Amino acid sequence: MLKILKYLAPYRRSVILVLALTFMQAMSTLYLPQLMSNIVDVGILHGNVHYIVRVGLVMLAVTMMGGLAAIGGSLFAARASAGYARILRERIFRHVERFGLSEFDVLGTSSLIVRSNNDVMQVQQMVQMMLRMMIIAPLTSIGGVIMAIHTNARLALSMIVVVPLLGLTVYLILGRGIPLFHVIQVKVDGLNRVVRENLAGVKVIRAFHRQDHERERFYHANADLTQISVRVFQMTALMLPLVMLIMNWATVAIFWWGSVRVNHGQLQVGSLMAFIQYFSQIMFSVMMVSMMSFMLPRAQASALRIGEVLNTTITIEDPPDAIELGRPPTTLSFDHVTFCYPGAEEPALDNISFEAHTGQTVAIIGGTGAGKSTLIRLIARFYDAQKGVVRLDGMDIRILTLASLRQTMGLVTQPPALFTGTILDNVRYGDTNASESAVKDALMTAQAWEFVESMPNGMLSYLDQGGVNLSGGQRQRLSIARALVRHPAIYLLDDSFSALDYKTDAALRQALKSWTHEAIVLIVAQRVATIMDADLILVLDDGRVVGRGTHTQLMAECDIYREIVSSQLSPEESAS
Ligand code: ADP
Repeated sequence: MLKILKYLAPYRRSVILVLALTFMQAMSTLYLPQLMSNIVDVGILHGNVHYIVRVGLVMLAVTMMGGLAAIGGSLFAARASAGYARILRERIFRHVERFGLSEFDVLGTSSLIVRSNNDVMQVQQMVQMMLRMMIIAPLTSIGGVIMAIHTNARLALSMIVVVPLLGLTVYLILGRGIPLFHVIQVKVDGLNRVVRENLAGVKVIRAFHRQDHERERFYHANADLTQISVRVFQMTALMLPLVMLIMNWATVAIFWWGSVRVNHGQLQVGSLMAFIQYFSQIMFSVMMVSMMSFMLPRAQASALRIGEVLNTTITIEDPPDAIELGRPPTTLSFDHVTFCYPGAEEPALDNISFEAHTGQTVAIIGGTGAGKSTLIRLIARFYDAQKGVVRLDGMDIRILTLASLRQTMGLVTQPPALFTGTILDNVRYGDTNASESAVKDALMTAQAWEFVESMPNGMLSYLDQGGVNLSGGQRQRLSIARALVRHPAIYLLDDSFSALDYKTDAALRQALKSWTHEAIVLIVAQRVATIMDADLILVLDDGRVVGRGTHTQLMAECDIYREIVSSQLSPEESAS
């Protein structure tokens, strides 16, 4: 908690103002009962109107000052805590931006979203409350005790009983509630995950008519969160009435005891009234502190979760003496590369070696889960291999700066990721300086120009929420255009033709040939037709290369390749 409070530093001026203003507020609160007791005991009892008016005016001024200080304090506390939350969210965002994919695998996207919103809000509320209470609660309680003793020491003895009783009540209730706060945040994560999956997979859920199943899942996640929240809040809801009960009983007792003493002439009415006010102030502070200690564990749980994100070590980063990749690389090689996902038992890639040169197309084919996408991810350095080396022009990619490494690549993912904005913006994502005619060329090569042109605003047509208004094949072609406009040295096409019809697939491959003849092209595909004329075909099975060569060689030598081919092509097609 304390560690992440350091981000409050830019708001130190607001913090100091809050502290000063709350100090003024506390002083006025402490001074008022004294003035009131004077009015009653001196002014009213002796019928001194002049005195009453004079002290009354002072009281008004003190109240005004206290009120203004309270308003100012609240304003600056809100400013500081909202600014603090902004900085915290920004830190989280910046750190998460540097995450490698394994960091995402560990923390989970849903949890990261909750952590940067809900958890930050919890901490923000705590900071705001702490800023206000830090000064006012100790001042009014300690000052109140001193003033109460000063007013009447014997009456003040009552607090020896009441304060520990209050403390014990709060302690007992919070002691049981606190451990549950962490559980609440975990349940919020869970609910968030179910909702996200539900929204993302809405088509599948409808198509498979799994609404009931999903409703059940949501129901459980929702009920889980509700149940634990109800338990916590029931427990803590008990606190306020109990505290009030103790306070009110004590007040009645003080009134009774005090009035007896007033009757005997041992205490003045004004002093009794002042004493009751100090007493309420003390109790109020105790209550505030208990409320804070009720919020503190929740904020603490959130702070820990935020800390986990901020302290996550980035596994994939530029080494201290990273080298800029000067000119476009001409060779890409895998040298006995083995890679295992964090927590997985079997390696996703096992002892992979191959080489690709400029002008060559290397195709990777294999069943689902064979490790094809994993291979592409290692080239873009989303993960690092545990054994073996991936090299560009003979240099281990881990000694290169990430920016220069990724600058050389045009990655097309499956499913394609587009962003809200125009088609032009989306293609220019690959190269912000690309001219409109360069974008048009890329769109033409990617076989996308025809449909883009027919849209009402052409390249300036807007893609809602990352392109929900386009078909899967159209989205694929736009993301291919985005890679093309960059003219990278290495194309990584991860199953990028899967949603295209055969005719478009063929036309696209034909157009790509001249566009990419000075680059290394890696194509992951399920369809044999897409990769038949590649210079090198790697057949992957269970993370291992089980065949390599051209189509003709593999047809002669590799059983698995033949199986794939015979399941897709007629004998005449496969011979071509
Ligand atoms: P392909 O692209 O050939 O379908 P992948 O490269 O996506 O296969 O996956 C290879 C293997 O790695 C599969 O067994 C898959 O379950 C596993 N895998 C893929 N992504 C992850 C991940 N993020 N965490 C753990 N295992 C993964």
